[in-house]
Amino acid sequence: MIIGLRPLDGVLSANYWNTRSESLKGIFFGNHFAGGENSIQRPFYFLRKFKIVPFWKCLNALSFAGMRALTTDNSPKMISYEKIFENNAEWIAKKKATDAEFFEKLAIDQNPDYLYIGCSDSRVTAEEMMGAKPGEVFVHRNIGNLVVSIDVNVMSVINYAVNYLQVKHIIVCGHYNCGGVKAAMTQEDMGILNPWLRNIRDVFRIHKEELHAITDSKKQFDRLVELNVREQCINVIKTAAVQKQFIHTGYPIVHGWVMDIKSGRLIDLQIDFEKELKGIQEIYRLI
Ligand SMILES: [Zn+2]
Repeated sequence: MIIGLRPLDGVLSANYWNTRSESLKGIFFGNHFAGGENSIQRPFYFLRKFKIVPFWKCLNALSFAGMRALTTDNSPKMISYEKIFENNAEWIAKKKATDAEFFEKLAIDQNPDYLYIGCSDSRVTAEEMMGAKPGEVFVHRNIGNLVVSIDVNVMSVINYAVNYLQVKHIIVCGHYNCGGVKAAMTQEDMGILNPWLRNIRDVFRIHKEELHAITDSKKQFDRLVELNVREQCINVIKTAAVQKQFIHTGYPIVHGWVMDIKSGRLIDLQIDFEKELKGIQEIYRLI
């Protein structure tokens, strides 16, 4: 298994991966530039540029041994490390076959219309499930697709995407069966994960009446996934960058999605962006 890691995703994300260390063989350190066609091919391109460190060499740096697994690993047979580079070569050849100057053009600049903020879960791929091509989506992923105001990483991504890339749409995408959300519903000390997961526990607290009224635990889990996406959308709308840009240009529009892993279907939660913006302005207006 290989899981994508983007700069400054940092300790918390690494911690989560270590909880799945039974199957984790490598960590991908990439970047946010909108490039690469899908979750397989895109990391492989960057693997050529960033030397991968075997997972066992990361253990000292991560030092989170002993964390228990948050999810059950029933994933299919994993791709071998060597096969990655074979696939990369095939991907390059395929791209060049349809457009000989594909990479020359890709290297010029990026101008994506979409910022995607999703979960680090290896099963929920951004570009692949959207059918997006390289250069079309600026991506940020972390455990539980959280937008935390003091997280320099996600705030940098949002500010860059809004102010410089001038994206038209910001998508927060959660998914059912999310290990991060599940962990936040578990009454247990999870060490360094506690402050991160507390953001999801806060979502539960805000919506506890609705959630406690759901007696089916699976449905309650699914609903918390949806409510978490909604609250993270509101956190995006709270930012000065989004508020200012929207006043001046009418963009970006913020959307909340949930990916149903069992069917692959993307569900649009139909967040009413302008209504939500008006709703928070009494307290969170920053312009
Ligand atoms: Zn997740």
